[in-house]
Amino acid sequence: MTASSHPLCAQCGRSFVRRSARGRPQRYCGQVCRRAAEYELNRAQGLLRRAEQKLQDARLKTVTEQRHFRVDADKVVEFWEAEVDRLRVELRRLLEASEASSEFLKPA
Ligand SMILES: [Zn+2]
Repeated sequence: MTASSHPLCAQCGRSFVRRSARGRPQRYCGQVCRRAAEYELNRAQGLLRRAEQKLQDARLKTVTEQRHFRVDADKVVEFWEAEVDRLRVELRRLLEASEASSEFLKPA
C-alpha cells in the first residue's frame, strides 16, 4: 500500500502525500503542478485542432490544385498527417497522466 499512499506527481515526478482518500485520485503534488499540466493539455489540444485544420486544407488542395503542383500538395498532406499523429500521441500521454483523464477519455 506504500505505492498508493505515496504516489509520484504526474508533472514534476516528486513523491507526495495524498491529502484525502475521497474523490478522484490526486495526481499532482499541488496547485502549481496541476495548473502546469492543465496548461500543457490545453496547449496540446489547440495544436492538434490547428494541425487537423491544416491537414483538411492540404487535402482539399490535392484535389483543387493543378496537376503539376499536386506533388507538392501531397507532401504538405504527408507533413500534416505526421503532425496530427504526433500530437494525438502527445495529447493521449498528457490525458493519461492528468486527473481529467476519466472525463476526456470516455469512448466517443
Ligand atoms: Zn509536482
